[in-house]
Amino acid sequence: MPPAEPSPPYLPGAPYIAYRDGELWVEDVRVADLAREHGTPLFVYSATAMRAAVAAYQRGLQGRDALICYAMKANSTLAILEVFARAGCGFDIVSGGELERALRAGAAPQRIVFSGVGKTRAEMRRALDVGIGCFNVESRAELDVLDEVARERGVRAPVSLRVNPDVDAQTHPYISTGLRDNKFGIAHEEALDAYRHAASLRGLSVVGIDCHIGSQITSVAPYLDALERVLDLVEAIEAEGIPLHHLDLGGGLGIEYHGEHPPTPDALWQALLARLDARGHGHRRLLLEPGRSLVGNAGICVTEVLYTKPGSSKHFLIVDAAMNDLPRPAMYEAYHAIAPVRPRTEPPTVWDVVGPVCESGDWLGRDRALAVRPGDWLAVGSAGAYCMSMASHYNTRGKAAEVLVSGAQAQLIRARETVADLWRQERALALD
Ligand SMILES: *Cc1c(COP(=O)(O)O)cnc(C)c1O
Repeated sequence: MPPAEPSPPYLPGAPYIAYRDGELWVEDVRVADLAREHGTPLFVYSATAMRAAVAAYQRGLQGRDALICYAMKANSTLAILEVFARAGCGFDIVSGGELERALRAGAAPQRIVFSGVGKTRAEMRRALDVGIGCFNVESRAELDVLDEVARERGVRAPVSLRVNPDVDAQTHPYISTGLRDNKFGIAHEEALDAYRHAASLRGLSVVGIDCHIGSQITSVAPYLDALERVLDLVEAIEAEGIPLHHLDLGGGLGIEYHGEHPPTPDALWQALLARLDARGHGHRRLLLEPGRSLVGNAGICVTEVLYTKPGSSKHFLIVDAAMNDLPRPAMYEAYHAIAPVRPRTEPPTVWDVVGPVCESGDWLGRDRALAVRPGDWLAVGSAGAYCMSMASHYNTRGKAAEVLVSGAQAQLIRARETVADLWRQERALALD
């Protein structure tokens, strides 16, 4: 076999994350300058890429009564929430902690929707007290508890039921949350009865319907299937005299990690709006809950090569980022592009890129052709979503620092954690 040609380095996220003059830039800032100033592992995000992603949704929804609620579990760092709040987004939250973060970032409470299968009474109370826009209720039992909590507080809780459209697994096997056999949502066939029940409760005010069929969806078809199923329900529910003011189609639109070609947000919404109009529902208020597609390819994680460890069957590249910083490969065997910050012209070697954590599952990429030496910086691509927000302290590793870039400006938005940060809540042994 001829030696592998050095292919041009590539990371998703152009034009905001791109090579220029032989090195990687995020917008108009050299990644190498940031790595030198702040150390590694370091997350670097492009604010302009985030704004462009929001704008793509806004274009698709132009002229409609619509609210984009950023699903903040994808990346909940305060400064990033501020970027989305200023771009006109509301927020989709899944915990009381996320509620406080959204408020801290300046979110208008009426623009917050609260999803999740296990809301506690305390979380419900707080969300009612601040006046959130909607509770996306996921079970009958939750309806009853929310009704009780709202009556205790002398208010009515705005509710939408998360219905499970049970989109056909045969045709769309990659959908994981819209199927009958998972913990999310209320089964399609039980939804009408659940709506009757909700409408009968004095502490609740039925305002909408929602679904969220899964994540990293790369085609329009499952959305159209889900939309048809949800509209069938909307018609059945309204025929019983229960008006639904909004329709929330959740999030889930995929991004390019490695050769995927998901529809753009505007193309997706063009298709969905055409179907909505055709069925006479074009006037409805729309809510969306995109997460990954707003931030995933707006970020990279920069890591330093610590050691090269050639072996007889595998060569390992040991870097200073690990599964505690970038959990997706270990959790889902997910692929992230990995490319040098300053590419070398030497011929590449095929490496498994691994972190220092004491687990065989601690790998970031397998069989990657890279020309690198210890001390070089690598960028892990598509690291804006479900990386920092899923980071842990495993192996007593502090969380990485985060920098946000806008044009030629760069701001540290999260300082690197110190060991003192890690044990702040711990107490020395006081027992005999
Ligand atoms: C996670 C989640 C989202 C966002 O999903 P993405 O795939 O990141 O777009 C939206 N809605 C709900 C209810 C979720 O749990």
